[in-house]
Amino acid sequence: MNPTTSKTTETIVLGDEALALGAIHAGLSSAYGYPGTPSTEIMQYLIDEAAKDQSFVAQWCANEKTALEEAIGTSFAGRRALVTMKHVGLNVAADPFMNASLLNIKGGLVIAVADDPEMHSSQNEQDSRFFADFARIPCLEPTDQQEAYNMVQVAFDLSETLHVPVLLRLTTRLSHSRAPIAVGSIRAQNPASKALDRENWILVPSRAKVRWNALLDLQPKMVELSESSPFNQMELGSCSPRQKAAFGVLTSGLGFNYFRENRPELNSFVPYLHIGQYPLPVGKIRALAASVETLVVLEEGYPFIERLLRGILPSSGPAIKGKMDSTIPAAGELTPENVRPALGLPAIIGTSATASVGGQALPVRPPQLCAGCPHGDSYNAVKEALSAFKDSVVCADIGCYALGVLPPYAVPETIVCMGASITMAKGASEAGYRHAVAVIGDSTFLHSGITGLIDAVSANASMTVLILDNGTVAMTGGQPTILPGHRLAKIAEAVGVDPAHIHVTEAHRKFHAENLRILKDEIAYEGVSVVITVRECIETARKVKKTGGES
Ligand code: SF4
Repeated sequence: MNPTTSKTTETIVLGDEALALGAIHAGLSSAYGYPGTPSTEIMQYLIDEAAKDQSFVAQWCANEKTALEEAIGTSFAGRRALVTMKHVGLNVAADPFMNASLLNIKGGLVIAVADDPEMHSSQNEQDSRFFADFARIPCLEPTDQQEAYNMVQVAFDLSETLHVPVLLRLTTRLSHSRAPIAVGSIRAQNPASKALDRENWILVPSRAKVRWNALLDLQPKMVELSESSPFNQMELGSCSPRQKAAFGVLTSGLGFNYFRENRPELNSFVPYLHIGQYPLPVGKIRALAASVETLVVLEEGYPFIERLLRGILPSSGPAIKGKMDSTIPAAGELTPENVRPALGLPAIIGTSATASVGGQALPVRPPQLCAGCPHGDSYNAVKEALSAFKDSVVCADIGCYALGVLPPYAVPETIVCMGASITMAKGASEAGYRHAVAVIGDSTFLHSGITGLIDAVSANASMTVLILDNGTVAMTGGQPTILPGHRLAKIAEAVGVDPAHIHVTEAHRKFHAENLRILKDEIAYEGVSVVITVRECIETARKVKKTGGES
């Protein structure tokens, strides 16, 4: 099931781009996604390529749930679909994700999820392999750009063979590092199929029960495919149950690279099993475990494999070392350095997370709003307006404006997840805060803020929603907002906000006095008000100017 690759065609790409290119070459018909670091470049690459020849669809969507549902529709029509998102985006898409595993998938359906261990640009470190296990579907996890390219075709084939979705998991370092890859020929897209399959696509309870049992029946086949997968490589050397090695290594993802990087310093051959395809190849794991005294697990993210080992190996099996006994740091990314002690190698003195040049530590530069950012002007107005009120709370959301937690603004009290600013402000207001303010960007409002606003209107909550409309998804590099900003006021009115309490202003210090007056009036108002402050992200404006009008 490996795609045929040719050594004659090489290109240097990011891990994200390798995945995107692999999808095109594997016969992709449609790709949908929502921007989110570190996954954004997958869809950006696909959109750029689709613009050249229009041979497939590639679109940003309102959120990850709508993206996945659109892809499920493509699969229903018999064609191959890819969905892209970051790990926390999979929480948003969890409803269709869990249910899609029960469908009789027709066209291959691949869900590419990029996890962010170390939380470079995320609010948690959740590990998407748990989601694949939760949905009882296969998961593929590349170690490098070439595998990211190759695995997409395998993922589509697995999806079409087993008739289930397949999750493809990346992590930050692979998504955002470049390497040369050999690419293969382009496979034709599936023809559209109009054949209906009501028995297997209508998840009413009576049929869902049948589909759930069918999925459970498929599990041994999935394990069998993992046992023979070329992505699950094992080398035992001369080690055996009678001649055990002192320790062996079980790796996944980048853990394999860091093991290989340190291997020349190891005194003797160390048997290993690298896992790139899940569910776990139980037979291979038992074979490795029987040949070693101690098993070291190097995996990025949660101790996913390590926890499952407890149910696979007997209590008389090898000692297990990994994140759960703190042999490996439980939080953050793996590095070539931090896995060394687990391999019995001395720590490298002088390495630290602090970047240095020529032995000189570089000063730490915390992130901050760009100079002249419109959000700065909006926060200045909110801060001053709130100084007139006692008993206030500001709930903010996910976007560049999250940087408003830092001085000199230090305005928001909460930031939790996409859309939570509005719903949390509503809850806080109903629990007793007299003046609740939600701060949310235009794209995040369209992603998952609208439903919260509907709740607020329905309950006539006493709160102000401040929508910062900079016309772009700035934090992920300036992707277009799904709908133009001039529709935001109409949306607020359409869901029932009193037009007298909807204001559109410009986020600029020259309008500070007027913006301050509007905010003070609306924060004092005992009902739902919406204030939309508009000004283009200056980074996006700069890019548009540079490209002569195309953002
Ligand atoms: S990228 Fe745009 S929105 Fe983000 S901080 Fe810079 S100017 Fe502000």
